[in-house]
Amino acid sequence: MTNRPFVALTLFAGALFLPSSSSAQAILKSALKPERAIRRDIPPTNMIRRAFAAGTRDSTGRPGRNYWQLWMDYTINARLEPATSRVTGRESIVLHNNSDSAMRTIVMRLDQNIYAANVPRAEQVPDITDGMKITRLSVNGQNAELRTEAGGCFPSNRSGAPAAPLTAPRATGLGLTSACIGLPTPIAPKTTAKIEVEWNFKVPHVEGGRGLRMGTWGDTLYQVAQWYPRVAVFDDLRTGGWDTEPYLGTSEFYNNYGRFDISIDVPAGWIVGSTGVLQNPEQVLTAKARERSSHVLESDSTRTIVGANERGPGVSTAAGDRLVWHFVADTVSDVAWGTSNQYVWDATRATIPGGSKIPVHILYLGGHASGYASVGQRTRHALEFYSKLWMPYAFPQITVVDGPDGGMEYPMFIMSGAGAADHETGHEWWPMMVGVNETWYGFMDEGFNQYMNILSAQDSRNQPRNVDGPGQAYGRVSGDEREAPLLWDANYGGPMYSFQAYGKAPMMLSMLGGVVGDTAVTNAMSDYAKAWRFKHPSPWDYAFFMSSALKQDLGWFWYYWLYTTDAVNGSIQGVSTAGTKTTVTVRQDGEMPSPVVLKVQFASSGKAIKAMANSRMTDSVTAIVTYPVDVWFSGSRTFKATLDFGGRKIEKITMDPFARFPDKDPTDNVWPRAAASALP
Ligand SMILES: [Zn+2]
Repeated sequence: MTNRPFVALTLFAGALFLPSSSSAQAILKSALKPERAIRRDIPPTNMIRRAFAAGTRDSTGRPGRNYWQLWMDYTINARLEPATSRVTGRESIVLHNNSDSAMRTIVMRLDQNIYAANVPRAEQVPDITDGMKITRLSVNGQNAELRTEAGGCFPSNRSGAPAAPLTAPRATGLGLTSACIGLPTPIAPKTTAKIEVEWNFKVPHVEGGRGLRMGTWGDTLYQVAQWYPRVAVFDDLRTGGWDTEPYLGTSEFYNNYGRFDISIDVPAGWIVGSTGVLQNPEQVLTAKARERSSHVLESDSTRTIVGANERGPGVSTAAGDRLVWHFVADTVSDVAWGTSNQYVWDATRATIPGGSKIPVHILYLGGHASGYASVGQRTRHALEFYSKLWMPYAFPQITVVDGPDGGMEYPMFIMSGAGAADHETGHEWWPMMVGVNETWYGFMDEGFNQYMNILSAQDSRNQPRNVDGPGQAYGRVSGDEREAPLLWDANYGGPMYSFQAYGKAPMMLSMLGGVVGDTAVTNAMSDYAKAWRFKHPSPWDYAFFMSSALKQDLGWFWYYWLYTTDAVNGSIQGVSTAGTKTTVTVRQDGEMPSPVVLKVQFASSGKAIKAMANSRMTDSVTAIVTYPVDVWFSGSRTFKATLDFGGRKIEKITMDPFARFPDKDPTDNVWPRAAASALP
């Protein structure tokens, strides 16, 4: 318990509060209380306490000895009618209850209801539809009572006590994005349940503007996602197990892993791209398209599988009235698809480290050819670069589709043009391979992705990695009362949701690199990705894992970045020289501590420069001197750094020269101060 001394001091100060003058109290307080009490642990919340107690997670940050997660087997048949924009589906889900408890309920996600009128949402939607209509739902062969309104999974009397036990499953909240099925018989641990559902919905029209992660352009192009009723995550973290967060539109998803066998029935002449691997090319593709596809893995060049002038049944696809496209995806958390009678189909390949070559499929409208010209190359670079950075891409293909959403990700499937291809491909690592809860902790997918996109862009330009800047820049944001801390449920992230989910994590990781080195950060993140591959890490697992992998007690770092909106706000207060020694007085006005890093620039001639133990020379007249964060743990806001380089005249000192530590005003980091105003 590292912060206990501060608690003791505070109590001591309190005990000395006598009925004396307020100025005497102030003197006592300033003498006995630290100027800044630095918290150095990662405070547990109830959910992580429960997981530790159950042994499902522990302080190594790795999955615990009792870790478990559900598995799903989905078999889905869906039919699209372009004339009405309606998708009609039926599915069979085998829920594997791998948990340690019996399930009395099943929570289902009906995300399509976000388009219905009178549904809570945080985003404007491009179209109001009648939502997701469930026409039949059964559990283990027993038909459920279907209720649109919410009202609890179980009937209860006025005092809330359960009424008579159910005799049949009871589905409530079918008009909302999160529905609940009460079960007459619980699903015992280590057993399965079979859920069968029939449903339909109208794909929302998007006239101009952007779709909300899906939609249709007229009756010729469809991006279909959030399209089948799916079982919510039941994990070891939530009270009661089920994740019951509504889909409000801004925050994204949290899904179980499983196997999907999907059959999509569309008119002949419509090309379908989907999560998974096409199982029946001989039934849906022309011989010409199959022949062209057979050469995709031979080189990095882009081949046309179906060209802009090849339209209609028997030309863009196999002949017929309607065709059923059959895809299988194993160990994925979701499936999405796109279809159009106007899609041009290009393909190229990516070479995943380890040697496997996979196809990159690109489906776009002929009129958008220029916007898609570099998609193959960008997607390939992302797949290859992130495979090396974190761990190899695990899926057998990737498909990029044009449509109303130009920046959304699903397993093996992204809705994107050239601009977002790197970012959306990056999501194949988080959340697709590392199954984080995006709804609550957007920073663990969007934020980490933004950080790696910086590295990928530099790599694609053959530039060295450089994440100087973002860490310091957080100081200009800190203090904004609209900012929710990273651990705050991003589903309710408020006006600064984008900053919370996307903007802050690259700043955090820039600072972490300033503490431990950037290569150490990416190596530890790579190990974290491998440890949680196809599992569900929490932010606590991540923080504990990183501290362990980096072999440092980084509790202080995680506390301030995850739990607070505090900054460092450092400055150089003064510099004095006596003999060969120069004393630099550094101050931190913020609540977050940081190491002290000083760039010392010497005169070009004079006495020989003698290195200090905590210094390194970057050229013959420049030294970087580093003091660890520990110098602040005594509680003072000022620290005197004594430099002794043998007496060579010091011309300039810059604190935080790599711009890693959150600072509202970096101009006071420079001595002499005049040097700051002289900066260009
Ligand atoms: Zn994203």
